[in-house]
Amino acid sequence: MNVETFAPIGQPFAIQLLQKMVATGRVGGSYLFIGPRGVGKKTAARFFAMAINCQGEGPTPCGQCDACQKILTNSHPDVLRVTPEADRQAISIEQVRRLQEILAFGPYEGKRRLVMIDPAERLGLEAANALLLTLEAPPPHTLFVLITSTPYALLETIRSRCQIIRFSPLSRKALLKVARRLGVTVAPADPVLDLCQGSVTRLLALLKPEVRDKFEEMGILLTSFLMGSPSPDLIETPKWAKQRTTMEEFLERALWRVRNVWVALEGEKGPGMMDAEAVGKIAAHLPPSANESLPDLLEAILRSLEDLKHNASPELVFDTLRIEMEELSG
Ligand SMILES: [Zn+2]
Repeated sequence: MNVETFAPIGQPFAIQLLQKMVATGRVGGSYLFIGPRGVGKKTAARFFAMAINCQGEGPTPCGQCDACQKILTNSHPDVLRVTPEADRQAISIEQVRRLQEILAFGPYEGKRRLVMIDPAERLGLEAANALLLTLEAPPPHTLFVLITSTPYALLETIRSRCQIIRFSPLSRKALLKVARRLGVTVAPADPVLDLCQGSVTRLLALLKPEVRDKFEEMGILLTSFLMGSPSPDLIETPKWAKQRTTMEEFLERALWRVRNVWVALEGEKGPGMMDAEAVGKIAAHLPPSANESLPDLLEAILRSLEDLKHNASPELVFDTLRIEMEELSG
């Protein structure tokens, strides 16, 4: 199996650091992988487990040997993942105790055991304190990878025990590469690549057909404003405007669309542009005053996003923006 099919994508700094540690034999006891959701922390942990257990030459795992194959199919007995049980919010102390019983014995068949705690911020207080004892005196041939998107929700005593490895949001290029690997089709100019904020988890959610349909509806609403003819849809508050998450998606999408139309009117081209045809269609119908009102509209949308982030009700934000849009389209 080619390394390109399982190596983490778009996190060169984190991966180089891990590979260097494996190559020099300086693998510590506990790591804290910090970064937003859906940027490859788990993939990197699995890659790390492969690198320290591969039966090949190393330091890059071969992907072919028995150890690599088992890790890739999540069936290696020495690669463990502790995560909240199905009906629970937190990782319980019982789970940590069970883990400690397993760790009392050496690895079954691997060179080193790797334990993922994921997500680490979901460790209950008792569980965290119990785990701390293990981190302070780690069993031989065992290393811990704690995974989190909110490091400050962890106990300081746990954080300070771990070597920190940071992961950043993925670039558009990296997102496209991940999508290709997953067999998902995304056009390079698709706005979802901006909207997902560098997270594969968000990208996949945004690509669902039902979400796409909702975006279409939002797009029509906004385009009708840009064309200077407020849509009848504006009379009633749409369902999605009553929910915080969908209202936020709408505003982010609106921001993207308005920014792109404005940039197109100014005759500039840049990354993340809407396709020329869509811009042309909108531009052809714009009122002569559009050049002047678009910056105001951009500001109104940005203000709405701020209000929403400061806990204003989504419906109120929508209504305020609607009035501003109507005034702007005069
Ligand atoms: Zn291997």
